[in-house]
Amino acid sequence: MDELKKRIIEDGIALGTEILKVDSFLNHQIDVKLFEAMGEEFADRFCGEEVDKIITVEASGIGVACIAAQYFDYPEVVFAKKVSPNTMTEEYYGAEVISFTKNEKSVIRIAKKYLKSKERILIIDDFLAHGQAAMGMAKLVEGAGAEVAGIGIVIEKAFQGGGKKLRDKGYNVESLAVVKSISDGNIEFE
Ligand code: 5GP
Repeated sequence: MDELKKRIIEDGIALGTEILKVDSFLNHQIDVKLFEAMGEEFADRFCGEEVDKIITVEASGIGVACIAAQYFDYPEVVFAKKVSPNTMTEEYYGAEVISFTKNEKSVIRIAKKYLKSKERILIIDDFLAHGQAAMGMAKLVEGAGAEVAGIGIVIEKAFQGGGKKLRDKGYNVESLAVVKSISDGNIEFE
């Protein structure tokens, strides 16, 4: 998606060779117009897929997923929680993931009542690195007997291998911008 790539080049900051900081439009401040264009693009890429629900993981996936939902005829959006709050009193599906940015293990959780068997679920997230978050969400979906309709990612860093792992498992992964490498502050796309 050219508009997104242009924005990454203009505003993205490479932190070493592994992390891309895009706080000015995705992870801290949100460019709603760009999110709308991304939502439309996801709807094009997954056109023909039946989508009953969108799931994501807190916090940065929520905005992208909610705006994208408008282009899928408003399915409900459920976000997996990364910490178990006192209010999460009901039974939940859980999956262990290693956080790429924090380098720590956590369990992502979705209450059982929000995932039903046979539902077709679109997974959406801001970044795909090693695939832990997306794989964890797919595990939650499949644990509920639901099906992964596809995985929509804003920025995939191909060199970290998560996309390959997910595609090898048969998931339909669509990434709006695919970064091939980050070196000396330069961001190169596939
Ligand atoms: P994975 O689980 O695929 O290894 O990493 C994806 C998760 O880590 C995303 O949910 C995202 O929040 C975070 N993440 C991974 N790489 C980056 C990055 O380069 N920049 C930012 N801002 N977040 C990232």
